[in-house]
Amino acid sequence: MFENTLAFAQAQDAADTLKHFREEFHLLQKDGHPMVYLCGNSLGLQPKRVKAAIDQELKDWAELGVEGHFDGKNPWMYYHHFLTEKAANVVGAKPSEVVIMNNLTANLHLMMVSFYQPTKERYKIMMEVSAFPSDQYAMETQAKFHGFDPNDAIIELKPREGEYTLRTEDILAQIEANKDSLAIVMMGGVNYYTGQAFDMQTIAAKAHEIGARAGFDLAHAAGNLHLQLHDWNVDFAVWCTYKYLNSGPGGTSGVFVHERHGNNPELVRFAGWWGHDEKERFQMKKGFKPMEGAAGWQLSNAQIFPMAIHKASLEMFEEAGMANLRTKSEKLTAYLEFILKDYSAQLNIITPSDPKQRGCQLSIIVKEDGRKLFDFLQSKNILPDWREPDVIRMSAVPMYNSFEDVYRIGVALKEYFR
Ligand SMILES: *Cc1c(COP(=O)(O)O)cnc(C)c1O
Repeated sequence: MFENTLAFAQAQDAADTLKHFREEFHLLQKDGHPMVYLCGNSLGLQPKRVKAAIDQELKDWAELGVEGHFDGKNPWMYYHHFLTEKAANVVGAKPSEVVIMNNLTANLHLMMVSFYQPTKERYKIMMEVSAFPSDQYAMETQAKFHGFDPNDAIIELKPREGEYTLRTEDILAQIEANKDSLAIVMMGGVNYYTGQAFDMQTIAAKAHEIGARAGFDLAHAAGNLHLQLHDWNVDFAVWCTYKYLNSGPGGTSGVFVHERHGNNPELVRFAGWWGHDEKERFQMKKGFKPMEGAAGWQLSNAQIFPMAIHKASLEMFEEAGMANLRTKSEKLTAYLEFILKDYSAQLNIITPSDPKQRGCQLSIIVKEDGRKLFDFLQSKNILPDWREPDVIRMSAVPMYNSFEDVYRIGVALKEYFR
């Protein structure tokens, strides 16, 4: 089905119905040569339309001052509303289940406040071993905050001996084995290191069956997988917007709260004025009355500049359609896998080969001196990223990477390994 030739790659690009989106990005150059950017899992490239979006808000601020909250082109008072529907489409949610606010780790803590309410009997948190450090620190300090010893309260899911990724059956068995003590499963949607995508629907169903909750950190899943958070019945999710969602360094974050919980004002939370009933927000009244849905978890008035970037970027996701992006993504990643497989003797792809168990990232362990290959690729204007201790991550992102990009990786590998 695939061929390792320039003609084949170019024919795929020519037939790609999403190919025009590549022109919408600032593609990197080094010394006048185009680079193959494979770090969309870390920081997505800048959409060109972001500049106009920011300029609009700068202009309204310059010309209207505080009146921009109501009289601006995109009145700041309602700014988060302009993002929710688009963001909801990206993650497969109802608009009322999504809000854009804060940063990822802050949102993870806010969600844990509401969804991790341990008792003496049911207090354990289950997560994948070697999760992203911020998630590890968040869970460790959440356990401590409630007076538990993290070494006892946190259950880490480990791959079997000799394997790199987790088996769903093993995750389910661990949930079952801890059915009386497990309070919450909180794991990545896609593991940042291995690139493994987890079966969130099945995991959430099993967690619910034993009386626990299931939340997911979608930093590496949002804008990558075709998520269906509402139908999968996950309790909550959080994600950042600067990776696959191309919304700039340190950009804003998204939160999903399933409507089963979002419309329950009794659910404890840490509140702020922006989560208060919008109709009386400016009456400055005593007594917190949350907005319905995820919006009721907002703390502060909207951070217009990161959100302006995100709004511009989400428009592109709306135009492209997550289902279309995912269709292209599966093919592009399969092509990357095909190209890499020529070097099976020299490198090992630890990301699952089942498309359902991965997004666009492939994680590679080079059998000998991976750092040297990484440096070589960089010298050839190919930019993957390196994650300690020994993984090269490559993400061919459907929004702006091409089949020719992938072909060029193969050309470099041929030169390196010949
Ligand atoms: C990228 C990433 C983070 C980063 O957290 P910030 O709060 O955005 O700095 C956290 N968790 C995971 C799983 C990530 O992939």
